[in-house]
Amino acid sequence: MSPTMAAWDEALVMMVDDEEMLLDVIQSHLEDAGYTRFATCTEPEAALDLIRSNRPDVLLLDLMMPRVSGFDILHAVRSDTELQFTPIIVLTAASDPVTKLKALELGATEFLSKPVDASELVLRVRNTLAFKRYQDRLAYEDTATGLPNRPGFIRSLDEALPKLLARHTTTALMHLTCGQFGLARETLGSRAADSLLRQAGQRLQTLHSEKADRGLGNSLSDGPRIGRIGDQDFALIFPNLLHAEDAAALCKDMLATFDAPFEADGHAIFLNPSIGVALTPGDGQRAEALLNCANVACAKAISGTSKSRFEFFSESLTTRSKERLTISNQLRKAIDHGELRLHYQPKVCLQTGRITGAEALIRWQHPEHGLWLPGKFIGVAEETGLIGPMGDWVAQEAAAQAARWYGQGLGPLKIAINASRPQFEDGLLAQRMQELLHRNKLPAEWLIIELTESLLVEDAARALQQMHDLRNLGLGLAIDDFGTGYSSLSYLKRFPASELKIDRSFIIDLPVHDKDRAIVQTVITLGHSLGMEVVAEGIETIDQMSVLQHMGCDVFQGFLFSKAVPPDDFEALLRSDAARSLVMSTQQATPEPEPVTPA
Ligand code: C2E
Ligand code: MG
Ligand code: MG
Repeated sequence: MSPTMAAWDEALVMMVDDEEMLLDVIQSHLEDAGYTRFATCTEPEAALDLIRSNRPDVLLLDLMMPRVSGFDILHAVRSDTELQFTPIIVLTAASDPVTKLKALELGATEFLSKPVDASELVLRVRNTLAFKRYQDRLAYEDTATGLPNRPGFIRSLDEALPKLLARHTTTALMHLTCGQFGLARETLGSRAADSLLRQAGQRLQTLHSEKADRGLGNSLSDGPRIGRIGDQDFALIFPNLLHAEDAAALCKDMLATFDAPFEADGHAIFLNPSIGVALTPGDGQRAEALLNCANVACAKAISGTSKSRFEFFSESLTTRSKERLTISNQLRKAIDHGELRLHYQPKVCLQTGRITGAEALIRWQHPEHGLWLPGKFIGVAEETGLIGPMGDWVAQEAAAQAARWYGQGLGPLKIAINASRPQFEDGLLAQRMQELLHRNKLPAEWLIIELTESLLVEDAARALQQMHDLRNLGLGLAIDDFGTGYSSLSYLKRFPASELKIDRSFIIDLPVHDKDRAIVQTVITLGHSLGMEVVAEGIETIDQMSVLQHMGCDVFQGFLFSKAVPPDDFEALLRSDAARSLVMSTQQATPEPEPVTPA
């Protein structure tokens, strides 16, 4: 039952009668009259549950039924707080006034005699619906704006929530309030204030429809979208959000629709609303609870000192989502403004001390906050799709730098690029890399693509094809963060990777933990037996390096030798003897550690 009811021919007509034949007859009469939505029930025992789940706009109820009588159902409906206003037309063969009186006392809305006359039936149903519609409007619609009022909004939201919650996405409830509505009422009068409210409602509705067209909130064709829930308050519902940041972005858009002035009584009036946001499922799963949270958040937004004028109910979400929203906006510009940098972390051969290459790691020279590491912005880039253009920039920048070193006669070097999920998922990575090599006139052996183990395992079949395509170009391929992604041995055997990078988590306690040593030794042996070069990540101490050397690990990368550094500094390291001295120092000084048995 919709609060502001649908057109009469869309009304849901429910019929309860133990005679199936009669139900068919009634339905066909009503169909002839244009009605399309029906629910029927021939088991009186099940009627109440069905009424509850269907919420009919009108109920046709037979009085004389076996086991549970129509009187019982009538009584139960009228005693149920949620169903009590359902219009009920009682069908009865009984013409005796006692029966009719009893039905009236129990709250019947109308009577219809059996056998049913078609025109009388249609007339009664239509009148009842018209009256119900009028009642609904009074009860659930705001006359100033034509939007659902607070009870109407709550009612339809509560009806929609079970469906929304079942989707496991986030639904945002925004409470928007604006003190100037009250002020306008005091200074310009009710007519002007109502006009302002109407205009504000229209702007919000337009925004909501635009967002719905773009996939936000469009899944509530019959559900609540926007309501006027108080003298100076609106509520909006946006279902199907993936992140709190989406809600933050919507708040900004809502506030922006109020930038232009409104017109009332010949005055241009600027409104300056505040918004509070509650999110399902965390902040509540019923309309009242969500409205309360959004209201509290709104009060925070009004009293807060922040310029943004919106707040989440959850404190941590407010901070996080605002920060992430800012980051995503700034990151968009960072690519064009040349604020991204690639730093190069040397990879060193554990036997010879030669620098074999480097991993290109992205940094953001943030105009306000200095140099940012990827942990601060890669997540946002992935969520906002910016990872695509960012990844393209990284690949091009690394290839161009590699080509410069190649041109200078340095190396041979292998420059590793981290590929992200979207870059890998669109299936065009090999094609893009081919163009890149060609454009930069760079031999394919100079580049390695690093793919994390978890990325490979998720869609192994597709990953395999792409890996072969990349390898066929002559590029190196590394399995990054190995040991964290649960790949099985059978996968590993099939992946045409050239390099296996042991995750730092296995390296940290290597010198002291037998288990880690056993695992790392096994991985090294395994990698070698599959023809891969084994690289250890995150070496910070001489002890770690020494253990790896003795285990036969091929290459290391870590702060012990160098962090990721700008290209010029990397070049300086290349030209120096520092890596060789470091590696040689342990080869001479440290005794071989105790052998371990592979796990
Ligand atoms: P990763 O690919 O596993 O890169 C290695 C990370 O370990 C780097 O962190 C590096 O600075 C850090 N690291 C290296 N040696 C040591 C050490 O001895 N001790 C410690 N504590 N850390 C060490 P960074 O640069 O912060 O990058 C983190 C992650 O961000 C990378 O992990 C990679 O997954 C991602 N990333 C970095 N650059 C890019 C990029 O251009 N594209 C993509 N898609 N992801 C990137
Ligand atoms: Mg990496
Ligand atoms: Mg790694």
